[in-house]
Amino acid sequence: METQRLRIAMQKSGRLSQDSQALFKSCGLKINLREQRLIAHVENMPIDILRVRDDDIPGLVMEGVVDLGIIGENVLEEVQLIRAAQGQPFAVKTLKQLDFGGCRLSLAIPDDVEYQGPASLAGKRIATSYPGLLKRFFDEQGLSFKSVMLGGSVEVAPRAGLADAICDLVSTGATLEANGLKEVEVIYRSKAVLVQAPNPLNDAKQAIIDKLLPRIQGMQQARESKYIMLHAPKDKLAAITDLLPGAERPTIMQLAGDTNQVALHVVSSETLFWETMEQLKALGASSILVLPIEKMME
Ligand code: ATP
Ligand code: MG
Repeated sequence: METQRLRIAMQKSGRLSQDSQALFKSCGLKINLREQRLIAHVENMPIDILRVRDDDIPGLVMEGVVDLGIIGENVLEEVQLIRAAQGQPFAVKTLKQLDFGGCRLSLAIPDDVEYQGPASLAGKRIATSYPGLLKRFFDEQGLSFKSVMLGGSVEVAPRAGLADAICDLVSTGATLEANGLKEVEVIYRSKAVLVQAPNPLNDAKQAIIDKLLPRIQGMQQARESKYIMLHAPKDKLAAITDLLPGAERPTIMQLAGDTNQVALHVVSSETLFWETMEQLKALGASSILVLPIEKMME
């Protein structure tokens, strides 16, 4: 029997776990994740959360074992490339790019080795957990290399004499630095994405997705937006509005007991930098407030 509860896979523990959990929470899902269970039931919506290794998520979504999954684009793209090389199809739908899990897949070599472009690595041994993405990069360059497949601890491979270079995920670069490596080439940029199983879902499940997506959108938009309030001299209103980023239609209000000034409120698509605030002040604006927005719906 097909379940009516929407199943979503997320990484159990790792770099995507906390942000995935925060995303569900911000969408209004009440989950008790404290217990070390594989499946967590959402109390206030017909949704079950499956917590697994991130590597398992593309397969689970593709097979329709779960309906949705949150996964790094790097893993998704790698699975796709490897399957394509074996002549196997891989079709999952990307529903939304998320605003977390940002990282890059980069080539790195020992600090003391000279680098003059990808050709410096021709024929070299490169350790990676992403042979598909690495091969695509080298194919595009028309170069060959020797792939050394490692599931983890890729960064120690050069020192251990296993490889001449590595191709690994980087966010701050601290791990590379600690291992005496320098980043020489970014070959892929990744973020977390929400993906959906290829087959159409039943109406009940689709209805939940139709509810979740605008909520995710609303959270992301809110994070990028600010509510700006200020007092402005009436004769400088146009110049002041011009300075506000993404502020098409401000609300203008009378100030009690002041006929020369008005209050201006606006939702801006960006934050206000100090420089802009100083320019606004120079034009005569005062009481400038920049407030965070929790959620929004258009
Ligand atoms: P699992 O035990 O679930 O297999 P893992 O060790 O494979 O975990 P993590 O290191 O937790 O995976 O990374 C999960 C995802 O987080 C990566 O595939 C990537 O999309 C993203 N990510 C963001 N920043 C980084 C980073 N600095 N290093 C590695 N992954 C990162
Ligand atoms: Mg993994």
